[in-house]
Amino acid sequence: ITAYFNGTYIDPADLVVPIDERGHQFGDGVYEMIRVYNGTPFMLEEHIDRLYRSAHAIKLQIDPDRSALKNTMFELIQKSGLTNLDLYVQVTRGIAPRNHLFPNCPVSVSMTVKPFRTIQIGENGAGVTFYPDERWQNCYIKSLNLLPNILAKQSAHEDGYLEAILVRDGKVTEGTSSNVYMVKNSAIMTTPLSKQILSGITRMAVKDIALQAGIPFIEQQFTPDEMLQADEIFITSTTMEIMPIVRVREKVMNMGKAGAITSTLRGKFNELK
Ligand code: PMP
Repeated sequence: ITAYFNGTYIDPADLVVPIDERGHQFGDGVYEMIRVYNGTPFMLEEHIDRLYRSAHAIKLQIDPDRSALKNTMFELIQKSGLTNLDLYVQVTRGIAPRNHLFPNCPVSVSMTVKPFRTIQIGENGAGVTFYPDERWQNCYIKSLNLLPNILAKQSAHEDGYLEAILVRDGKVTEGTSSNVYMVKNSAIMTTPLSKQILSGITRMAVKDIALQAGIPFIEQQFTPDEMLQADEIFITSTTMEIMPIVRVREKVMNMGKAGAITSTLRGKFNELK
């Protein structure tokens, strides 16, 4: 059992979602991806806060009883028999005959779990490229509408890169599924929180670690050119954790090795999880 849909624990291959489900037809919903280390969801409250924030932003009413949602998560984790896993949670505006207007029906809640493998690339770092940020004005909402993200990431992948760094008005915003940081003169710089980016949970952890370690954490936008001149680059997400970036397009950064500050952050992050 590795999936859940509206009250029932199922196999992910089971056909359970009706055609008129609004996630399926409109992408009318929000989601979270939560990593579970040794049976314990990492920064669970922060993820649930963000889920409720995203839902509120699209006028979607999730059961205000957070413990019901958490119970379902823990039950699914337990039924899966897994201890190191990624838990995907999705809430949509429910099942109703197709109509743009909000239906009067219960929301749909679905979840899946999958074992994760630590990406080996993390030791040596990965490459990134740039791509225009073609997304909408509300990227702080973790919405199901990921088409621009998918197209950008696919294009980067086809060119041999792990991630596409999105650029809007000449400035880096974030990755298609990650936050982006550069290190210059021993200070970390990253895009400030706004409606243009997702407030990453891993970003929160990195900010805490940096502040505790006395590493300056400057929330300020930078350009692709500035990024190419950086001493170190890394990206973060729940599933990539803290990923060193050693190649930006054709340019090899830091002689192809993870930088000192990136490695320090990775070490301290490993202690938290
Ligand atoms: N930005 C975007 C667009 C993302 O999809 C993600 C992945 N959820 C992130 C940033 C990183 O967020 P988190 O650290 O919470 O996974």
